[in-house]
Amino acid sequence: MQLTPTSTPPRLEIRNLRRRFGNRQVVDDVSLTLQSGRVTCLLGPSGCGKSTTLRMIAGVDMQDSGEIYVDGKLICDTVFRIPPERRQIGLMFQDFALFPHLSVSDNVAFGLKGSNDEKRARVEELLAKVNLGWAIDKYPHLLSGGEQQRIALARALAPRPRIMLMDEPFSGLDNRLRDGIRDETLAVLKEEDTAVLLVTHEPEEAMRMADEIALMRDGVIVQQGAPYNIYNAPKDKQAVAFFSDIN
Ligand code: ADP
Ligand code: MG
Repeated sequence: MQLTPTSTPPRLEIRNLRRRFGNRQVVDDVSLTLQSGRVTCLLGPSGCGKSTTLRMIAGVDMQDSGEIYVDGKLICDTVFRIPPERRQIGLMFQDFALFPHLSVSDNVAFGLKGSNDEKRARVEELLAKVNLGWAIDKYPHLLSGGEQQRIALARALAPRPRIMLMDEPFSGLDNRLRDGIRDETLAVLKEEDTAVLLVTHEPEEAMRMADEIALMRDGVIVQQGAPYNIYNAPKDKQAVAFFSDIN
């Protein structure tokens, strides 16, 4: 008799993560699952514990309790810990700058292994996806903020990360550019086999980009679901107020 798997494990699962700084419980029993090909937004006001959650997933901060699994395998609990560089996680932050002394090509190839031909092929593939093939031999300072952002996306995706963690990646951009770059980023992310956790304090951004929203407040996920459902049925008065700025 053959055993057939009934379900594939989620790309990322975090269970009951907690983190305390001093006497403040900054992340309080947070659980989440992410699937490949989907964007989950961790949405909540400034200071609610979003970046701390992301840092624990990335492995640059350590939870007090709870576990993190990737594709069903434990990568971190309070005794066992795979280091950040072996987690196959791509990172993008607001001020995650490109290396100024490296060309666009060398920036995107930075985390890549393999032969020069293989690296070059991956760099060209990604630059084509972000419509910046023409910039391959340029240096970052010659590019606009939006273009640098797209290069940073290409660089983060180049090593084919299993998970992309993005912490307010668009907040440094000009308002006029932001919507376009959000849409373009989303299109590129959807073509890669990766699960995305996007942190933002802007409901509008979550509504535009998320397949699923996890609404966070004071270290706790208070509501979770499809953007449309959360927007139409916020759980309580605070959630209503939080979404009321969107027009
Ligand atoms: P968010 O990303 O949602 O704005 P953070 O996760 O950055 O929130 O921070 C949540 C709270 O934890 C804030 O009050 C912040 O000051 C505090 N905090 C974050 N990191 C540390 C740290 N290393 N030491 C002490 N307090 C911290
Ligand atoms: Mg933050």
